[in-house]
Amino acid sequence: MCGWFTAPIFEGFKGRPAPGTPLGQIANAAPAAVGKYAMSRAYLCVSIDTESDKGKGWRSRRPMSFEGITDGVVKRLHPLFERFGAKPTYLLSPEVLRDAGCVETFRKLAPSCELGTHLHGEYAEPGAFDPDVTSVFQRDYAPDVERQKLTYLTDLFIRAFDHQPQSFRAGRFGIGPASIGILESLGYAVESSVTPHMDWTSSGAPGLSFQGAPSQPYRPDPEQPGRPGSSGMLEVPVTIRRRFLNAIPGIGGRVEPRWLRPTRGTAERLVRVAQDEIAEARRAAPHRPVILNAMFHNVEVVPDTSPYASNEEEARGILDRLRALLTFARREAISVVGLGDVPEILSMSAPQARVPSA
Ligand SMILES: [Zn+2]
Repeated sequence: MCGWFTAPIFEGFKGRPAPGTPLGQIANAAPAAVGKYAMSRAYLCVSIDTESDKGKGWRSRRPMSFEGITDGVVKRLHPLFERFGAKPTYLLSPEVLRDAGCVETFRKLAPSCELGTHLHGEYAEPGAFDPDVTSVFQRDYAPDVERQKLTYLTDLFIRAFDHQPQSFRAGRFGIGPASIGILESLGYAVESSVTPHMDWTSSGAPGLSFQGAPSQPYRPDPEQPGRPGSSGMLEVPVTIRRRFLNAIPGIGGRVEPRWLRPTRGTAERLVRVAQDEIAEARRAAPHRPVILNAMFHNVEVVPDTSPYASNEEEARGILDRLRALLTFARREAISVVGLGDVPEILSMSAPQARVPSA
């Protein structure tokens, strides 16, 4: 554990806000102070790509099943979030939104979470089908097809929940030059597909690179979402930190950077990613709230419904690391908020902390 960080740097804010506290009040809470230094507050988003059951190699279960929701979300994830008073963001794929049982489940959970959307284009009209593996990057569709699929997804969501989704993430993080404009026109406020320091070229997406992307929220360039620009939407990147080796040409591209993701590794390393991002973001902009964005999939926490947990012990390991991250957040008075809450948190902060744009 990093010694200086465990000092009571949040002493200006005692404990968590009461459940139901309007977000504006949370965001308006005075920044904590240590001596003469005012520190910005930190917030954690836990954003979960929520899909039908998969298996080894991400192969879809046949027939389609939703243990990752009936067991994963309902019995494992959501009770954990509720124990911590944490608000997760479930980003729902089209096949989930088409299933009446799943919709009923998420309608019940809606008061204590944020619901958004997640596009795996294979499941969306036009041309929807049940794929063996979801391999498409949405940026590879013609822009009019990408628009139709995003419109279909958004309409499914609105029909299911009677309100507009605020937040979106592309399947395989595959946004492209048309995506931001389409999402903005469909009324979204937050995009969350940018994975800083990652280059997805070797995963079948030549040129899909977020090298050099900011790690804190920003207004993206609509045509290059990994760069700041003038979009009306907010990009909330997944929290990913560079390793020393990533800076070395050649080798660097083959070394996985450090993700704020409970899928692998140890609890200590996961918490260290959060601590390091907070420290660096505060150094760069001391008065601006720090936003952490942890991601994983609902199917990771149930045995044999993703490539990451083939048995109960591995599934429990992922849940244990998530619990460690939530425990860290509670100890440091870091509120766990929805992705769609981030624009308000940043807009309520001091003028010098406003979201940068080009
Ligand atoms: Zn996905």
